[in-house]
Amino acid sequence: MARQEKLRAPRGTFDVLPDEGRRRERLLATTAEVLGAAGYEPFDTPVFEDTEVFARGVGETTDIVQKEMFSFEDAGGRSVTLRPEATAAICRAYVEHGMHKLPQPVKLRSWGPFFRYEAPQSGRYRQFTQIDAEALGSDDATLDAELILLLSELLERLGVRAVRLRLSSLGTAATRREYSDELRQYLRDRADELSEDVRARIDRNPLRAFDSDHQATVRVMEEAPRLLDRLAPEDAEHLEAVRALLDDAGQAYELDPKLVRGLDYYTRTVFEFTSDALGAQSGVGGGGRYDALVEQLGGPPTPAVGWAAGVERMLLAAGDEAAAPGSAVFVAVPKPEGAREAFRVARALRAAGLQAQMEQSGRSVKGQLKHADRLGAGAVVIVGEDELEVKDMHSGHQRPAADVEEAVRLAGEALAPAVEARP
Ligand code: AMP
Repeated sequence: MARQEKLRAPRGTFDVLPDEGRRRERLLATTAEVLGAAGYEPFDTPVFEDTEVFARGVGETTDIVQKEMFSFEDAGGRSVTLRPEATAAICRAYVEHGMHKLPQPVKLRSWGPFFRYEAPQSGRYRQFTQIDAEALGSDDATLDAELILLLSELLERLGVRAVRLRLSSLGTAATRREYSDELRQYLRDRADELSEDVRARIDRNPLRAFDSDHQATVRVMEEAPRLLDRLAPEDAEHLEAVRALLDDAGQAYELDPKLVRGLDYYTRTVFEFTSDALGAQSGVGGGGRYDALVEQLGGPPTPAVGWAAGVERMLLAAGDEAAAPGSAVFVAVPKPEGAREAFRVARALRAAGLQAQMEQSGRSVKGQLKHADRLGAGAVVIVGEDELEVKDMHSGHQRPAADVEEAVRLAGEALAPAVEARP
């Protein structure tokens, strides 16, 4: 028989094993708490869309649309794409459901898998998970500041280390068009110093030259004209209003005129949080305003602002937190005949709101207690032939229980210090 090749997860993807799964679950719970407190409601769009949503929404000249999309023809001959980002699809949904008729702003939060065909490296995957927060239907500067501060709070609550915030404004589409012409001219004049990549993009997307890490290009860009100096008065005022709110909140940031971000749809405010605890892929989350996007996708003129943050990068930058103290109960079964009673005890413990599992692998009593320890159980209920006993794993004390109710009560008492000690 021919040797079969070992099956593996596709390149750039990963399996989430339970240790990581628990961390992800906690992250999502914290996100729901932080964003929920500011009125952001849960919301979801499909994992794939008509390709046109992203082609029109994200912008034909972006790296994402040009080379990173997982697009394919479905069995009905339609071109569909696994979503590479959240905003375009959210705008599509906002228009489709007439959400402009709801009281504005419409505040949404979402999370799920996203797909980009990129070269995999640490912190960069082909399937990754993003959390998104968006506020559509208002150009109020408090929304920009609110969203920035919410992401900042989330990163802090998650223990993401060495965080920095960069902020800028890209003005309106009209300002950007004029500025792009000026920048194109500047880049053409110094074309021989630029990287091939940047030179090839002068016509299509000159702003991306600021993203280059090619040394000579970086030097050229240091002296390039800056969009921040060309903002229309109302856009400059908007930026000032956002800055004042961040200052009031004590939020540190760096005003970075070179921040352009990789997506075409941004207008006015753009921002990015990075973590120095990460390597080359240091962006943990970012976003900005996209005041023209809803209209571009067929809706009424609708200013909007939002961000996306990468779950894997946030967890990488958060490091490992200490394990939670034992708050589970293990039900030990010295003799197989006790299994039915143990099953009943485990269900009673869960009904009382405790976390419980029972022996399900035929271990010896000694092996079962070792296993309970490994699970971090704070209490063990031992289901003997005629008696029930509850062992407090913190103190080592063992007490008899007259019936299941008493066993549940004693187990709860044994856990009480651990449960109370939880943040
Ligand atoms: P973007 O939509 O490109 O602004 O990305 C927002 C956030 O998503 C980034 O700051 C990262 O944390 C995360 N992210 C983007 N692309 C990837 C990727 N290929 N792998 C892992 N995380 C990513």
